[in-house]
Amino acid sequence: MTKILIVGGGIGGMTAAACLLHAGFEVAVFEQAAELGEVGAGIQLSANPMRVLHHLGLVETLARCGVRPTAYQFKMFDTGEVLQEIPLGEGYVERHGVPYLSVHRADLLDTLIAAVRALNPDAVTLNATASSYVEDESGVTLHFNDGGEARGDVLIGADGIKSMVRAKILGETAVHYTGDQSWRILVPAERLTPEQRPDTVNICVGPGKHGVVYPIRPDGLINMVGCVEYETWDDESWTARRPWAEMKTDFAGWHENIQAIIDNADKDQCFRWAMNNRPPVDHWSTARTTLLGDAAHPTLPYMAQGGGMAIEDGAVLARALQQEADVGAALDLYQRNRLDRTARIVNESSANRNMFHLPSEAALRQAFAQRDMNAERTAWLFSYDPMTVELR
Ligand SMILES: Cc1cc2nc3c(=O)[nH]c(=O)nc-3n(C[C@H](O)[C@H](O)[C@H](O)COP(=O)(O)OP(=O)(O)OC[C@H]3O[C@@H](n4cnc5c(N)ncnc54)[C@H](O)[C@@H]3O)c2cc1C
Repeated sequence: MTKILIVGGGIGGMTAAACLLHAGFEVAVFEQAAELGEVGAGIQLSANPMRVLHHLGLVETLARCGVRPTAYQFKMFDTGEVLQEIPLGEGYVERHGVPYLSVHRADLLDTLIAAVRALNPDAVTLNATASSYVEDESGVTLHFNDGGEARGDVLIGADGIKSMVRAKILGETAVHYTGDQSWRILVPAERLTPEQRPDTVNICVGPGKHGVVYPIRPDGLINMVGCVEYETWDDESWTARRPWAEMKTDFAGWHENIQAIIDNADKDQCFRWAMNNRPPVDHWSTARTTLLGDAAHPTLPYMAQGGGMAIEDGAVLARALQQEADVGAALDLYQRNRLDRTARIVNESSANRNMFHLPSEAALRQAFAQRDMNAERTAWLFSYDPMTVELR
């Protein structure tokens, strides 16, 4: 039986593991952390990744611990005027066959881990930091910091934006600071009045900054991410704490509902980190090694699709390995079928940053009047089915 080694137990690595185990492969996941877990933040799951989660039988669990927002609304930063809306209610489910969910990242990861462990309780090894690997004609040997090693037929680098596997396949690749730093906070809904609690995904756009606010748990936990232009940056870490007062100043003059959310955040739980752009690459596989998720195509979060792409990758990679008996041909088939779509999402996410930060209300109004985001995203983004798309 083909044995597949996966470096990284995040959303991408765990989805790939579940899809591969489901397809009958032998799988070993190696995660550097002592415990599996995610940072306290939300993630939106549109129909494209939801079809994979449906295939794995996880939609009901996720729907129970997450929220089904009624719409995705682009709003003016100060007045709250709705500039454009993508409906996410019953019509979305009728059209796509699966709901749009917003969930806590920890709930998504826990659900994926449970799915992997139900298929093989011993599939995941913790405290295992992969340091290098050697690929030869008959397999791949993965080496760990503690001197240990593992041998398999295929190696998947699902090890995120600072991927060791990516560095070995692609060498140094370009990284550009976008000019944005991103805040994240979580606020329990009971601290807000009913009018201040969102039941939609809100993308509030304004000169030089934008804020994304949506609920992630049925008991009303609210997630806010706020991207603000800063000339300099020093930290790309999701866990870098910053003074609450700086966030308050950054969003001065914004709508009262945004003020209420910032005012009710725990003052010592405000995080801010630099947003970097990494342009798409033209390959990410060798004869026996490949990448997925952020290791393959790191993206800005301005379409909320980084995790979605990682989930799609896991499903398409498992299908390619089923379709082609030869490992090299399978990895090539996977890469061929993922390069264009993921590059499009990465490039459009970067372009959205400029649109969301236009310098005046008139410019923002005009830009949103010229684009039908609902039609665009329905046509190619949400309608993609990783479980049935023809691989060639
Ligand atoms: C502000 C923000 C909002 C976002 N919102 C959304 C959203 O709404 N929807 C969406 O789809 N996406 C969203 N994303 C993107 C999404 O979070 C990422 O694309 C996704 O988490 C990538 O998953 P991954 O598994 O590829 O990488 P990661 O989650 O980074 O996982 C990599 C794993 O590999 C492990 N690892 C690393 N190196 C090693 C090693 N040498 N040995 C062993 N283990 C190792 C790490 O510990 C980690 O567990 C957002 C991102 C940001 C920044």
